[in-house]
Amino acid sequence: MNLGLGSDEMALQARAREFAESVVRPRAAQIDRDEQYPFDIVAALAAQKFLGLTIPAEYGGQGRSFLDAVLVIEEMAKCCTVTARIVVETNMGAISTVMAYGTEPQKRLAADLVLAGDKPAICITEPDAGSDATAMTTRADKTAGGYVINGRKHWITGGGVSRLHLIFARMFDEQGREQGIGGFLVVRDDAKGLQVTRREATMGLRGMPEGELTFRDLHVPADMAVLPPSGFRRGFADLMNAYNSQRVGAGTVAMGIAAGALDQALAFAKSRQQFGRPIGEFQGLQWMLADMQTQLTASRLMLYAAARSRGPAGSAFPDPMLAAQAKIFASESAIRIVNDALQMFGARGYSRDLPLERMARDVRMFTIGGGTAQVLRTLVAAKMLGWKLPQTRDGYAAPAASSLAAE
Ligand code: FAD
Repeated sequence: MNLGLGSDEMALQARAREFAESVVRPRAAQIDRDEQYPFDIVAALAAQKFLGLTIPAEYGGQGRSFLDAVLVIEEMAKCCTVTARIVVETNMGAISTVMAYGTEPQKRLAADLVLAGDKPAICITEPDAGSDATAMTTRADKTAGGYVINGRKHWITGGGVSRLHLIFARMFDEQGREQGIGGFLVVRDDAKGLQVTRREATMGLRGMPEGELTFRDLHVPADMAVLPPSGFRRGFADLMNAYNSQRVGAGTVAMGIAAGALDQALAFAKSRQQFGRPIGEFQGLQWMLADMQTQLTASRLMLYAAARSRGPAGSAFPDPMLAAQAKIFASESAIRIVNDALQMFGARGYSRDLPLERMARDVRMFTIGGGTAQVLRTLVAAKMLGWKLPQTRDGYAAPAASSLAAE
């Protein structure tokens, strides 16, 4: 099925597919079983130049589009979700924020680390600030030489393996006046005061550590603050714009898991015999297959469209509305598709000897991380209505602080 890809895009897709099948698939079960971050796969991805695809050529990257990254992510996700997430976060998210808003030295630092195999960590969520990210209490106090950060984040992807961290904190000037929420670049090995204090026991995606990070008097030089175009006071919304690419990436991982599960279900439907005939001859399963394919194709089209789009005012990131809709639809569809694929395998689907149960655990994450499906619906509704939809009880009385959450 040709979904409007050019010959260069199809060549990249074919190269990614070949790599995923030969290098990634044979490792996927073990990565899940051992719960170890796959540094060997990262090195192989770097050698094939699948990391930093979207980093401009002047910083050593490939200067490719978000759609190119999407094509690679899908192929990885068919085989191994952890590998696909590494490709997301070395092409979208924190790295995109730095490339869009960073200073020259910040861009060089981030590009060099990513191209050498580092998966940057983005640090927003706190125990009492999840969907309501602007409730974060981690603070960055201005001092003579820069900033001092204190606080705690949790569910930070790559905690303990990532070197580059983009940390979000409330900023205060030397008189203790609040300046807004800012982003700070920190390299873990060079930074005293950044500790990984816990690893989450996750349901799926077990080769990717989710960490709690504690900052105790973490000193950050002033030139490592990432200053977005609208300045620090309104800058959180700019910095969070990076999530529009990350959302397309996350939706693509979900869609890729679903595509991998559907491939397997289709092959099984042709080979498994019951009542003297292949189970694919039963109309009950034919209609399941057709529904799975229909949802998958719709997800893929939405993700491609979002990846190709650009947000308003020359944004470096995909359109927020398209990105949110694509992530909602792709992640919810993928859970259904993987669940149906598992069902078609009967008892075998429930066995840890086959990948379906791993895929079912992995895919469950994508309606949660990177903005829940409920919160993204609020974002879509806000754009449709043309209203800010602050979610606090007194939201309309005090929109200034809380309106950022829905943007
Ligand atoms: P809560 O905000 O407490 O939400 C609980 C429930 O209430 C959810 O169902 C939610 O949808 C619903 N809800 C909340 N507010 C509303 C509302 N206004 N309207 C309707 N429903 C609402 N964070 C990072 O900063 N960096 C990372 O790298 C990162 N990686 C993650 C990786 C994984 C595997 C996971 C699971 C999470 C990760 N997160 C990360 C955190 C993630 O972004 C948060 O989990 C998410 O934003 C939701 O926050 P919460 O878990 O505190 O849920």
